[in-house]
Amino acid sequence: MATYSEKLAIHGGKPVRNSLLAYGKQWIQQEDVDAVNAVLTSDWLTTGPNVAVFEQRFAETVRSKDAVAVSNGTAALHTAMYALGIRVGDEVIVPAMTFAATANCVAFMGGRPVFADVDPDTLLIDPAAVEGLVTPRTKAIIAVDYAGQPCEYDRLAEIADRHHLALVDDACHALGGEYRGRPVGTLADLNAFSFHPVKHITTGEGGMITTDRSDFAARMRLFRNHGITSDHRQREHEGSWFYEMVDLGFNYRLTDIQCALGTSQLKHLPDWIARRQEIARRYTGAFRDIPGVNPLAVRKEVSHAFHLFVVRFDPAELRNADRTFIFQAFRAEGIGVNVHYIPVHLHPYYRDHFGTSAGQCPIAETAYTQIVSLPMFPLMTDQDVADVITAVKKVTGSCL
Ligand SMILES: *Cc1c(COP(=O)(O)O)cnc(C)c1O
Repeated sequence: MATYSEKLAIHGGKPVRNSLLAYGKQWIQQEDVDAVNAVLTSDWLTTGPNVAVFEQRFAETVRSKDAVAVSNGTAALHTAMYALGIRVGDEVIVPAMTFAATANCVAFMGGRPVFADVDPDTLLIDPAAVEGLVTPRTKAIIAVDYAGQPCEYDRLAEIADRHHLALVDDACHALGGEYRGRPVGTLADLNAFSFHPVKHITTGEGGMITTDRSDFAARMRLFRNHGITSDHRQREHEGSWFYEMVDLGFNYRLTDIQCALGTSQLKHLPDWIARRQEIARRYTGAFRDIPGVNPLAVRKEVSHAFHLFVVRFDPAELRNADRTFIFQAFRAEGIGVNVHYIPVHLHPYYRDHFGTSAGQCPIAETAYTQIVSLPMFPLMTDQDVADVITAVKKVTGSCL
């Protein structure tokens, strides 16, 4: 193995790159701009024809029966919890290693998120941990396809069925992924997506829930529009002013402008997933022989969507260099690394309101001290990928 004896940028050496490479980034092309412009001069800026088109294309892409567009991924999760009727006193099992919104959506409904630990190799929710947390109050499991790798759905569905629980996929990392040949978006009763710019496709802000259950889809369309039975465009079409508000809902609508962008972006998904997988192959190959640099395991029954490329830096093999040093060293080299995530049960809100504490999910807590997300997005050039690999060798070489 080549050893890199150059002085680290953090110690005053020359950085690998002069400008910071982001960890994730959108890809907007002229056709996206044209699609958005066409809507701007049309009759409908929101809740027009582009919403149904985007929903239908999205449902076709993931091969689900229905898709409901909402204003962001957090709204998608909240809307999914509404569809299930989660309420005060209900428990929903969520992984500790995720973005806070996965747990927050349960709290929005007055429910209690119960944190399950994760598998040490994949950092996906551990089905055995889930099983141990089921109580008579448990109503649902939210699995998170962390980094883009689908969870063990056969085992999770078996647990859910046996205990009469709903299964929800927080699929915000995993659009375009597959589990045993089945697309993400069909793996759970409700599947929530985000179109934030760092995710696989973007609408600026945006979200979607897919389901095969038409009763869930109808409830979700109500919830995103104030709990009102018809929308403005339907009423105009029918020449009527009448509507009824039948439940308490939100304004979680996605605009026509955003939906047109989403439909345009969706066309690139297969190519973008292929490029993410190609970058992952290069990283994995390059890191194979570097001690202390351990990419998360990928199970053979999945097609990984690689929203993130997460590496565990093992301090035992890196002269105890801690993650804080490694993180800062990468940033100094011009590599925009990130950390996904601080385990949710460690946040002050959950400690204060739900009595969570350190030690509750030890595997997630240890992983948190070692993980770094390396740049991963389809617009990265081969030179960008090579720069990341050079920086990994340089930073870890200085710790060997
Ligand atoms: C991005 C993300 C969300 C929230 O999506 P927003 O569109 O930012 O609201 C929820 N869960 C996970 C796992 C995410 O990565």
